[in-house]
Amino acid sequence: MTAVPQITLNNGQSIPQLGFGVFQIEPKDTVEAVSTAFQVGYRHIDTAEMYGNEKEVGEAVAKSGLDRADVFVTGKLANDAHRPDDARRAFDASLEALGFDYLDLFLIHWPLPTKYDGDFVSTWQTLEEFYREGRARSIGVSNFQPHHLRRLHEASEIIPAVNQIEVHPFLTQDDVRAFCAEHQIAVEGWSPIGQGAVLDDPAIGSIAERVGKTPAQVVLRWHIQRGDIIFPKSVTPPRIQENFEIFDFELSDGDVAEISALNKNQRTGSDPDKFDMV
Ligand code: NAD
Repeated sequence: MTAVPQITLNNGQSIPQLGFGVFQIEPKDTVEAVSTAFQVGYRHIDTAEMYGNEKEVGEAVAKSGLDRADVFVTGKLANDAHRPDDARRAFDASLEALGFDYLDLFLIHWPLPTKYDGDFVSTWQTLEEFYREGRARSIGVSNFQPHHLRRLHEASEIIPAVNQIEVHPFLTQDDVRAFCAEHQIAVEGWSPIGQGAVLDDPAIGSIAERVGKTPAQVVLRWHIQRGDIIFPKSVTPPRIQENFEIFDFELSDGDVAEISALNKNQRTGSDPDKFDMV
């Protein structure tokens, strides 16, 4: 099995390009799912306060016997905690739930441009504090559009290490990805298989048949070859394994282009300019 590639972020930290996402994994199933992921070889876990399973992610890390330094864990700020004092409390609470003294990466989960008088800049400046204290080894954002990122650039010192956005063959996000590439912001693609929606596409099916892989493996490989960081979610052990076995084959440039051409700007999740759930 070929090792998972590491991506170097704009501050020199490395992140495994393939991780394991835990959105919509019930707390009661989380220790088992994350433990299975560790056994398979995943070393990068993507969680969030909003997922309600930070405590169980921390338990799985503790139970794994792995060194904390060998596991990359991402957390995200609760949407109801954007004001600086609330953000400080929420960050402390996440570390406590996980049982960690630092997070590898901490993100603003949503820009919430219609809340907090449109101010996500003071929230970002609070994450800069966590970074300077060393309690967040890297900081970034999620669901930020280029116009949100431009506002951060104007008013802050640290460029986000990542922008975590919805990306899959039906939503290729060319504009946001180009902006991020230009500004040395790594792209993390959430819902990398569109929560399953892209798997029945005939073009993906025929490439999968030709290369002798499953549609999920072909789509995950497409992300890897485009250079994005991904963390598919599953609670089913054979799928957790399947989603990891994507480093023993390669798609041709033509296959990558054919999959990218499936784009229809179709979101499975919310529009970041409108999302306002706190
Ligand atoms: P995903 O694209 O990873 O799809 C997950 C679903 O696809 C699973 O529930 C399962 O039903 C199915 N699946 C998984 N592997 C499969 C396989 N090999 N074959 C067939 N079906 C398979 O969707 P996701 O969970 O929404 O996204 C992945 C991760 O991204 C999340 O767990 C979370 O960590 C992150 N995320 C972040 C945000 C954000 O706002 N930042 C939003 C959504 C998700």
